[in-house]
Amino acid sequence: MSRCARILSGLVLVSAGLVFAAWMVAPEKNVRAVGEAIDSLIGTSAAQAEANTPKFSPVKALKEHEAYYPGTEDIAPDEMRITACGTGMPSARPKQAAACFLVELGNGDKFIFDIGSGSAERLSALAIPYDYLDKVFIGHLHSDHFGDLGDLWVGGVISNRQVPLRVWGPSGSKKEWGTAYALEHMEKMLAWDAASRLGNVNTKGQQLEVTEFDYKGVNQVIYDENGVVIRSIPAIHALDGPVSFILDWNGLKFAFSSDTYPNKWWIEHTKGADISIHESFLPPQLLVTKQKFPVEDALNVGTQVHTEPSMFGKVMSLTKPRMAVAYHFYNDFDTAPIVERQIRKTYDGPLSLAVDYMVWNVTKDKIRTRMAVINHEAWPLPSTTPKLPADPKDRVGFTKFLLDGREVFTDVVQAIYDETNKQFGTSVPAPK
Ligand SMILES: [Zn+2]
Ligand SMILES: [Zn+2]
Repeated sequence: MSRCARILSGLVLVSAGLVFAAWMVAPEKNVRAVGEAIDSLIGTSAAQAEANTPKFSPVKALKEHEAYYPGTEDIAPDEMRITACGTGMPSARPKQAAACFLVELGNGDKFIFDIGSGSAERLSALAIPYDYLDKVFIGHLHSDHFGDLGDLWVGGVISNRQVPLRVWGPSGSKKEWGTAYALEHMEKMLAWDAASRLGNVNTKGQQLEVTEFDYKGVNQVIYDENGVVIRSIPAIHALDGPVSFILDWNGLKFAFSSDTYPNKWWIEHTKGADISIHESFLPPQLLVTKQKFPVEDALNVGTQVHTEPSMFGKVMSLTKPRMAVAYHFYNDFDTAPIVERQIRKTYDGPLSLAVDYMVWNVTKDKIRTRMAVINHEAWPLPSTTPKLPADPKDRVGFTKFLLDGREVFTDVVQAIYDETNKQFGTSVPAPK
């Protein structure tokens, strides 16, 4: 220990001794004295600390919360709010769905970036009617990035989405590896689902508008409405086709990698982003020890197909966002320190290790990171527009085979119709 360090540590010990002595001599002033002594040790005045502390009232609600309760906060006109609705891996788990980030803007627009397996449930927990969840940008066609699109599509039909679901996604190096092909076949996969709802619920929300764009476009504008511009850049991941997205609005820049190996387009076009969400995959050691990958595959997948955390750190050091967000790993008490240690080898700036329901409120002068508190009993919020009735003429109906198999409880059903009509003042006739 240097002489200087010895003197300094001696002073700290003496100060600590004085604090203890103050405690012993004047117990009634203990709290204040200790507070002031500690403040003087760390260089903040007690008065300053007090001024920064929000006033507490025993009868009034707190003005500010350290958690975000969906449905309780306005978005300021100049604010961007981002909610992580999926931050994990291809196998979704209760704590983490697969990739999905919701961006809400102060102008009222909302955008979904990727909609991986399990994420539709997260979206429905945020107290947002499906009418507003109508724009989805898919970075690539791995199921952990678009596996829940069908759920959002069908959920919107049931929940009265009266505008088309609009989806943007990249082409592939072959037609059958492009977004248009994938979604055409998603509709085919859900053909029975779609037909079954005809005439039973209003199916206006079944409209699907797909915009496939060139995956090779560099900083190409793929969306430009209402002051919001979204661009795509190529991503390097597993096979030709993936892209990353950059959203610009009101002087704020949001960047989302979906999945990619570090690349020159991301480095060039996301520099200085206000919030930069980039994959930071499980390091090879965890792929081996926890996921039982063979070492060779762990190294290949962890560092060549994906971006390993120290590679993520390098990307962020080169682009210097106001907030770097690492996602795409199982984020637990034992994995987070390993991931963070890797990132800190190459990056020392602002960082969030994302987990589902993490929320960032971004304005030009502040970024606030909190966790959302989810009401697990919440129902998806009803539509803001009146629910349109179904047209029974559209009903496909059953074949005679099934009609003949029905046990028709005429009296019981008549009673249900009577009670319901009475309650709502209607006169819907019971089917014969
Ligand atoms: Zn992927
Ligand atoms: Zn992925």
